[in-house]
Amino acid sequence: MVNQKYKDASLDMLEYIDASPTAAHATREAIRRLEASGYRRLDEADSWKIGAGEKFYVTRNDTSVIAARVGSGKCEEDGFRIVGAHTDFPGLRLKPNGIYSKNGYIQLGVEVYGGPIVHSWFDRDLGIAGRLVVEGEPVLFDIRKPVCRIPNLAPHIRVNKNEELKFNKQDHMPPVVGLGDESTLEAEPVRKLIAESAGVDESKISTWSVEIFDLQPGTLGGMSDEFVFVRSIDNLASCHAALEALTNAPDKPFTQVIALFDNEEIGSATMQGAASRFLDAVIERICLASESPREAFYRAIANSIIMSVDGAHAINPNYAEAHEPRHHLVLNGGVVHKVNANERYTGQIDAVAHLVKCAEKAECPLQKFVARTDVGTGSTIGPMTATRLGIRSVDVGGPILSMHSTREMAGTEDQLHMINLIREHFS
Ligand SMILES: [Zn+2]
Repeated sequence: MVNQKYKDASLDMLEYIDASPTAAHATREAIRRLEASGYRRLDEADSWKIGAGEKFYVTRNDTSVIAARVGSGKCEEDGFRIVGAHTDFPGLRLKPNGIYSKNGYIQLGVEVYGGPIVHSWFDRDLGIAGRLVVEGEPVLFDIRKPVCRIPNLAPHIRVNKNEELKFNKQDHMPPVVGLGDESTLEAEPVRKLIAESAGVDESKISTWSVEIFDLQPGTLGGMSDEFVFVRSIDNLASCHAALEALTNAPDKPFTQVIALFDNEEIGSATMQGAASRFLDAVIERICLASESPREAFYRAIANSIIMSVDGAHAINPNYAEAHEPRHHLVLNGGVVHKVNANERYTGQIDAVAHLVKCAEKAECPLQKFVARTDVGTGSTIGPMTATRLGIRSVDVGGPILSMHSTREMAGTEDQLHMINLIREHFS
């Protein structure tokens, strides 16, 4: 049986994910948790006065958030302990002129964001969520009912019955939201629905960003609750673990930082992504309180370390040949240290030694991931932030199945292991 303490950590993670149908919602929920723990908002446009012990956060685009607890020591000598993760996940986003009628249906023309497992989106109950700007103010909305669905084609009527069903993203992905024709659209039913759910006057919406999300709430599963089933474990589970660890971390001479970035799934090259100067800017501004701030910044960089946290591929028993035979990751086997000779994952040797020490102290089992030599691997924010900042960095993650499916799967025990590991990194 799975011990209750593991279930509690995973259930809280499920609450975080259920509150986060978009990266903006994931950021809002992160901020809610930070503020409940005494963190205050700073704006990049303001002048900052931050001293030892200060707990603050700052966002860009309201979809990335960096939170820091300023250490009691000297920034140049004690440096930063940083955790990086990402708030975004693959999905479907409404096109500008995306609402149309076709063959008696009202449909949503969607762009595909990142690299989802396309077929996992078919025949699911889908909700709509996103952001509006109403009289200059941002408003989040979140329609928690199955307003749309992407219907599969029955096998009986497929033209080439014996061929594998292939999906064309332009033709086959637009969800249906109702029945109707051009005259139905005149009343702007989708806009009305969104305005109503957000509690705003539809005529005052100046712009929006609208996303489709899987509505089914997360749950524990398996014979003994050993599994977690939910969307977006990659990488909201890591955001949750970073938040839990930071808000429960002890006071230290070094500064503890979590950086939850948007846009990892599309390469991070945005003003709020991990390839931007967002993290550098926050770190440098913390060093500005020193006597010689520019030098303090560079010394702090040399005395800092980043743990980059993102999902890892657990062994899929039905596709075991896809995995490196001597590096099978198991669910509930603990945190994964990711290795790649070509630096798709980072791991300066002293950063790896730091990881091993943290894992020992936290009593967190460690497993090692390396991809098959003939397959290659994904990447994550670790190499990017390490390159940009020149901070030693190590890539870790929780083992999951069905990465980038609209319903992913993890082990119930691994969330607490990850929280404990990050807390040790902050200790
Ligand atoms: Zn990821």
